[in-house]
Parts: sequence; structure tokens; C-alpha cells
Amino acid sequence: MKFNTKVIHGGQHHDPSTGAVMPPVYQTSTFIQTSPGKPLADYEYSRASNPTRTALENALASIENGTRGLAFSSGLAATDCILRSFKAGDEIIAMDDLYGGTYRMFTRIYKDSAIKFHFVDMTDIAKLKSLINENTKLVWVETPTNPLMKLADIEEVAKITKEHKIWFAVDNTFATPYLQKPLDLGADIVMHSATKYLGGHSDVIAGALIVKDEALGEQLHFQQFATGATLGPMDSFLVLRGIKTLSLRVQRHCENGEKVVEYLSNHPKVNTVYYPGLKNHPFHEIAKKQMKAFGGMVSFTFKSGKKEDSIAFLEKLKVFTLAESLGGVESLANHPALMTHASIPADKRAEVGITDDLVRLSVGIEDAEDLIADLEQALA
Ligand SMILES: *Cc1c(COP(=O)(O)O)cnc(C)c1O
Repeated sequence: MKFNTKVIHGGQHHDPSTGAVMPPVYQTSTFIQTSPGKPLADYEYSRASNPTRTALENALASIENGTRGLAFSSGLAATDCILRSFKAGDEIIAMDDLYGGTYRMFTRIYKDSAIKFHFVDMTDIAKLKSLINENTKLVWVETPTNPLMKLADIEEVAKITKEHKIWFAVDNTFATPYLQKPLDLGADIVMHSATKYLGGHSDVIAGALIVKDEALGEQLHFQQFATGATLGPMDSFLVLRGIKTLSLRVQRHCENGEKVVEYLSNHPKVNTVYYPGLKNHPFHEIAKKQMKAFGGMVSFTFKSGKKEDSIAFLEKLKVFTLAESLGGVESLANHPALMTHASIPADKRAEVGITDDLVRLSVGIEDAEDLIADLEQALA
């Protein structure tokens, strides 16, 4: 099955009892047993598994070319599930530019866990290699990153993690499997904030893990079941429905993203535009190699370098909505330093380049002319 068919049919079956084309929302916590320990079907209790969630999990496995998908109550819950695999003394190497909430979890929630975190620029493969020792258990990569669109070469990192038998997880939230398939490139685990492009309609908080290795899938499912941050049936239904239009939506996100980038790149008030599709983007070659197109996420700074200019711009927007999050059908704008990445200390933000005049756009699927007219009036 090809990808555009998979998003609609991958891992899906019509409901056997009614023939319903979409899986019903099985809004139930528990399932009948015919004799103690003998459930009527495969289901016992919805924390362990629920048919609507199973339908979503099968779809997730299908579109990422994995064998097992797991759906969580948020992207961070999915990340936390992976971290529960480690113990005191273990070391994790993560990219130095990460979603703020991921960074907060690594540095604050796991502060007293005695798990050691290293943050590196993953494009510096020599640096990555130099940090690996016998305690290294996981390499964590986000690509493209939020908000600076840095990239890591998934294939190159996978060569190293395979050689050292270290798990390799990729946060594929920004790219989606329509544009990039980390498991095919050698990663062990794909993580998603399904709140974003997979759900696609800004109406649900959800997370996902997808793996190829069945034993790893079983281990992560045990951790999910035993800690309990699973996705409810209604939310599972919403993400499943979102996935059906993933290809169409991401195609339009990419087209509109490119038009917005072209406009911003030629605007006299705009300084740097961060977009992996730009020929002068430092990682454009990696982007071309591992991504089908370049997505709808765009960040930029102002020639003036002034925070006030970025705030004034954001306040003037009318079609773009000033709000956290991304990946929905509607265009959103965000000020990373004051909003999504405020939990990263100012000196760390400055170190990686999240300046106070940086704006991040999640370009939606509206008419590009309206989006550009909105940017035009807000930049005036
Ligand atoms: C939003 C986001 C997360 C966290 O996901 P939630 O669903 O908000 O918990 C993780 N990684 C990236 C890249 C994100 O954009």
C-alpha cells in the first residue's frame, strides 16, 4: 500500500458487528468476561487497550512503517514513557534545540533521577561520537527542530547508534510521516505530538510512539499500560480522523509555507528566515535527502532585532491567530521566547539562537494570498 492509501486504510477494518465504516467511539472502561480471566473479545480494561485506540494505533504503525503504534494522552506523556526505561547512571544524548516542554522534562522532572542528559548539536557527528560511553542508552533527536528548523541527519546518527547498540528516538512532529520516515532511515522509535499535524485540527491533545521492533513495542506498551497516560476513545477517534487527510493537508501546508517563505525572504524588515527548503539554509542538503518537501513551519527575525517589533507584528495579525501550538488547518503565530520556549532559561535560549525578536509561524491551509496580505499589513 502506498502512503496516500495508508493514511485512509492502513491497519483499518470495518466494524465486524455493525459494518460501520469508521470505528465507533468505544466509550467504555471495561469489557465483559465469559469466565474469570476469559474476556469475550481481546479487551479487558481500556487502560490496557480499547478498540478505538487500537484502530488509531494500527493506523500510526502503518503510516510510519512500524509494527506497533501506541497512543498517549499527550506528546509529553509519550516521551515520558520512553524515559521510564532508564535507571540511575544511564546517559541520554539529546539535540541542543528541542521543544521547550521536552527540555523542561529532561532538565527538571528528571533532575533528581541520576539519569545524565547531554545536549549537543547533532550535526556535529564527531561531538556526538565523543559523548558516547558504555552508559549511553538513548539518542534523542528532533528534526526539524522547534523553532529554529535545525536538522539532524537521521541516517548518519542511526549508523552510530546501531554500532553502539543505543536506542535512537526521533521526534517527527514537525515533518510528519508524509515528509519523513525515521524508522526507514534507521531510528528505533518515532515520537509524535499528535496534537499537531496528525490530529491537524487544533481540537485534541495527543501523543504517539511507533516502533519497528516488536519486543521494544511490547516493553513500551507495558510501561504505558502500567503508568496509564493512554489516549481516550473520543480523542483516539479525532486523531484517526485527522490522519485520513494528512497527505492533502501537508501538501498544502508545504505549498503555502514556500509562498510565505518567498514573501518574507524579500521583505525589507525581515532579517533571517528559518526554513529547511531555503537553498541557503545550513542543512538544506540534509533536508533534501531525508524529507519529501519542507513543511509549513517557518521562523524569522527582524532586521531591527527588536523584541517590540515582533510583538507589534504579532498583535496586528488578523488571519494568523496568536496562539501556542502548530500543525492545525488554521495559521498560527507564536513568540517562542515569550510563549512556547519561555520555560528554557534566557541564557540557554540565547546560546541556541532563540532571540527575543524571533517569530514562529505555523502556516495553515488557507488561501496563500490571504496569508500574505495578512503578513503584509502586520509588517507595515
Ligand atoms: C507540542 C510538541 C511536543 C509536546 O507535545 P504535547 O502534545 O503538547 O504534549 C513535543 N515535541 C514537539 C516538536 C512539539 O511541537
